[in-house]
Amino acid sequence: MLLEPLKQWYCDECGQVIKSPEEGWIEWRQDKNKKLFAFRIVHNRLASPLKPQRNCNHKPDEESSILDSHLDAFLEVAQIELLNILDPAISGIDKIKDFHNFVDVFRRLTLAYYEEARLYWEAATADGYFSGENETFAYSPYTLKRLIEQKYGDQNWQLGSSIVYQLYRRDI
Ligand SMILES: [Zn+2]
Repeated sequence: MLLEPLKQWYCDECGQVIKSPEEGWIEWRQDKNKKLFAFRIVHNRLASPLKPQRNCNHKPDEESSILDSHLDAFLEVAQIELLNILDPAISGIDKIKDFHNFVDVFRRLTLAYYEEARLYWEAATADGYFSGENETFAYSPYTLKRLIEQKYGDQNWQLGSSIVYQLYRRDI
């Protein structure tokens, strides 16, 4: 086990561990049609290993605005905030541009062991680790913890480190 569940994450920019919620930052972009995309969990400016030259945050661009929050504050209301974004009565219809990205970040913030287990998701799927199981079981803390500890975490630690980097570069 490399991470403390729901208290540590891999930064979507630099790939290094965010050691506590106080070091974290959540951010996403809003395009000119008010659609939300590029949800990410990153180091905040003070904790970024990339300083002083740069930081881990989204860079401003002409096409979108950036919405963000301290991760520790966001975690206290994460389910409320994320569900409000989904609720058409509050946020309007079709607010989310990339549902997979949104759901992935939702899971990373709310499902114990998911952040670490997702490193091995593709390999586990290819191996048939989830075959015959329903989706609820696949995302249960028991399954995710077992996946990390018994199946992939130890022998594939190096593999995991390189996968996490590829995952995050792909999401940007
Ligand atoms: Zn970072």
